Amino acid sequence: IKCIGILTSGGDAPGMNAAIRAVTRTAIYNGFEVKGIMRGYKGLITNEIIPFKTQNVSNIIQQGGTILKTARCMEFMTPEGRKLAYENMTAQGIDALVVIGGDGSLSGARIFASEYNFPIVGMPGTIDNDLFGTDTTIGYDTALNTIMEAVDKIRDTASSHERLFFIEVMGREAGFLALNGAIASGAEAAIIPEIATEVDQLSELIGNGFRKSKNSSIVLVAESELTGGATGLAERVKNEFPQYDVRVTILGHIQRGGSPSASDRILASRMGEASINALLEGQRNVMIGIQNDELVYIPFSKAIKNQKPINRDLLNTIKILSI
Ligand code: ADP
Repeated sequence: IKCIGILTSGGDAPGMNAAIRAVTRTAIYNGFEVKGIMRGYKGLITNEIIPFKTQNVSNIIQQGGTILKTARCMEFMTPEGRKLAYENMTAQGIDALVVIGGDGSLSGARIFASEYNFPIVGMPGTIDNDLFGTDTTIGYDTALNTIMEAVDKIRDTASSHERLFFIEVMGREAGFLALNGAIASGAEAAIIPEIATEVDQLSELIGNGFRKSKNSSIVLVAESELTGGATGLAERVKNEFPQYDVRVTILGHIQRGGSPSASDRILASRMGEASINALLEGQRNVMIGIQNDELVYIPFSKAIKNQKPINRDLLNTIKILSI
């Protein structure tokens, strides 16, 4: 390997820049050339590829978003698109790739790597924390902190007006943000897609006078068809419990932005270094993961296909701590 390409793809996440910085500098430290690919897989197809020196990644560790930009790219889903990507990449002299992104981005990497026998290392960059084989993903901690701060503010209104708030958080089909966001912000309940029956338990909770000893209630709801989202749930509760003054807040894209937390910067830096070490060790088609503070290599096939288990005991923790 002489020249390593790097791209960010799919949904952006805080810490992606810290990852780009770490990959670039570790690669240069080890004598590799580095090329930055703009707009995810799209840049491979449109040939937007720029040489990266150490100064290209100066002063970005603290910035949210991604300086390489990100995009969703339909062409890369087709064999013709991937062929063009391969041709452009080899013409540029790139002979290995580091992909920072979520489930979709790593699925694309996996297919491409197997079609062209191309060495790719992935890094889990997503606020959703939904990649199997890693305890956390880059961006998750920052998003959790953003949720916590937002819920703290909503709590002021909720308690002043004695309201029941449903706050919808991101997570795609995973409940990590809702569950841990609820614990961090002292919410009364979390509704997550992994445990669909919880929707009915909510009615039970409210029906049992869930608000008796409190003057406000906050329920975090993971965005998902399975939960019905905050709006859907609020409708149900309004019908069944008209005595409650119900409000809905959808946190939306504030969850994806902002300066990365210390944890995310450290995680991105360590994983970035590990991605180059992986290539040096001859690893390919693996995602860098972290398990009990140890960096590990997870084959793409495992990271993508398996559903990451969620700690169901935490729902009970929420219940106990909100009496
Ligand atoms: P994320 O990486 O955040 O999960 P997406 O699911 O949107 O985001 O995926 C990002 C990009 O990865 C897609 O726009 C597409 O270019 C590529 N991709 C996703 N799935 C596949 C696939 N099955 N085959 C080829 N490319 C894919």
